[in-house]
Amino acid sequence: MFATLQDRLEATFKRLRGKGRLTDADIDATCREIRIALLEADVALPVVREFIGHVKERARGAEVHQALNPAEQVIKIVHEELIQILGGDTRRLRFAKTPPTVILLCGLQGAGKTTLAGKLGRWLKEQGHQPLLVAADLQRPNAVEQLEIIGQRAGVAVFAPERGSGVGDPVDVARRSVEYAKSKLYDIVIVDTAGRLGVDEEMMRQAADIRDAIQPDEILFVVDAMIGQDAVTTAEAFRDGVGFDGVVLSKLDGDARGGAALSVRYVTGRPVMFASTGEKLEDFDVFHPDRMASRILGMGDVLTLIEAAERAFDEKQAAEVADKLKTEKGFTLEDFLAQMQAVRRMGPLSKILGMLPGLGEVRDQINQIDDRELDRIEAIIRSMTPAERADPKIINGSRRARIAKGSGTTVSDVNLLVERFLEARKVMSQLSQGKGLPGMPGLPG
Ligand code: GDP
Repeated sequence: MFATLQDRLEATFKRLRGKGRLTDADIDATCREIRIALLEADVALPVVREFIGHVKERARGAEVHQALNPAEQVIKIVHEELIQILGGDTRRLRFAKTPPTVILLCGLQGAGKTTLAGKLGRWLKEQGHQPLLVAADLQRPNAVEQLEIIGQRAGVAVFAPERGSGVGDPVDVARRSVEYAKSKLYDIVIVDTAGRLGVDEEMMRQAADIRDAIQPDEILFVVDAMIGQDAVTTAEAFRDGVGFDGVVLSKLDGDARGGAALSVRYVTGRPVMFASTGEKLEDFDVFHPDRMASRILGMGDVLTLIEAAERAFDEKQAAEVADKLKTEKGFTLEDFLAQMQAVRRMGPLSKILGMLPGLGEVRDQINQIDDRELDRIEAIIRSMTPAERADPKIINGSRRARIAKGSGTTVSDVNLLVERFLEARKVMSQLSQGKGLPGMPGLPG
């Protein structure tokens, strides 16, 4: 995400390092470079102009912070201006005073609406809501089935028109779905509408008719961030044709430039509310302008990481593991597997590491991290018996060959895993008993 822009800005700021004082010429040169970086990132021209204008004005004004050197001052200003362009405060979902809260999704075909319906449904359910997904896309063949499959994966109910009832009327389906939600006590209704490949009047009219029939509390416009500036023109068309309260940026994972993300708020005057970053249901987050700005500047995204960790790890389980680690035999491969799965629930390793600050320079290596290595480790542990997982020391040569065969790996893979596990367990147990590392003096306390 935003790799080009990140690299460009990093290089720009590097040139400022070591300068004792910034002259107007320094500021002009820096702003010129930032301008090129933004234009290359496909950010809309009016946004670039406004942004540069603010940065220049603030950098020249005597906004001198004693504790910061000139390079840091400029970074701070750029950071704050990025937050403003991205929308300032985080805009959260508004819930209706009397349920159900009705959310209408609109956007072009392929934008990621149906996928988003599943992601949003799953996310809301995690927070204790009872969402209902509604298939009001009756145009595209299989759209209803697709939503049903996604609903099933997300563990969220789907309201779909009866089979064999012909094409049906999406306005009627949407209206009935809200009645149904009321009668079955669903507190949130997420209505997926039909999209077309391009903006057309009939699609707009249909979305507007559904809007009028169900009076949504939130209309979300879903847009593929990978289409760059086209996202902005499409957003304007939808704002004028249907109107919307917030934007969802989808496929941000494939958007190396960031143009749409940085322009859409300013151009449409509507906040970005959610970001979709992959095909899996969990690749989804509330959009936080401040965190996104930090990420663009390579300052990492530690808060998002912490939240992901909180979702993935169960506190009670963590305490149990800590206890088990105190005795060397207590921690088993079974526990290790559970821990590894918790880490993996946070997403691909490259994504988790990418959120850490200061890793910009090794980004290429991070992107090459292959989660298949973890698949191999999981497969090996799964091929062991419970007794072997509890005490891998008992695994003899012939069992190692069987495990390798069962997991599609080699005996040396199995040997390496067992060896490393035993070694790591020893170190961890000594650390948790406060004995310090083997061969080192004990830690105090
Ligand atoms: P719709 O026509 O607007 O309902 O779009 P879909 O939800 O069917 O999505 C179109 C395609 O984009 C599907 O292949 C999805 O798997 C994919 N997709 C959706 N969201 C994302 C995302 O955030 N990242 C990536 N990489 N793919 C996505």
